[in-house]
Amino acid sequence: MSEATEKECSSSNSTPSPSEVIKIDGDLIDEMEDLCDEDLFGCYQCGTCAAGCPFIEEMDLTPDEVIRKVIMNEKDVLDSRTIWICASCYTCAERCPRDIDITKIMEVLRQLILRKNIDETDINDLSEEEKRSIPQMAFVCLFRKNIG
Ligand code: SF4
Ligand code: SF4
Repeated sequence: MSEATEKECSSSNSTPSPSEVIKIDGDLIDEMEDLCDEDLFGCYQCGTCAAGCPFIEEMDLTPDEVIRKVIMNEKDVLDSRTIWICASCYTCAERCPRDIDITKIMEVLRQLILRKNIDETDINDLSEEEKRSIPQMAFVCLFRKNIG
């Protein structure tokens, strides 16, 4: 488990987390089925996706941990920073030996949240320092995420 993995998934402020707001009665993976036809149970947790991810240091869950949480129906995966940090670069999807499109999994998890009008990436909340230091590509991905 990486050092980043040990960080808390949930924010410490009083705002309800996505997993508290979004009511999913059944299994998370069933909820995702409409948006995603990926065979998550085919994942054998090899970690290849995590090893190649260029943003792994910024993530609180590695991509393979995200998949494991979905499979295990651990809904706090919706509180993870990882799904917002993911830049949809497809590196993981191209390298996965089981042809699992992890990029799509991340997108589906974001969509579950955005459908409830919970936006984790409000550009207005960024400080001037963050706006200067964040790569331009991250802003492009942010806009792509928010317009679906
Ligand atoms: S690379 Fe594919 S099989 Fe390996 S952990 Fe990631 S999703 Fe699972
Ligand atoms: S698509 Fe997301 S999770 Fe996959 S390698 Fe790129 S940033 Fe990492």
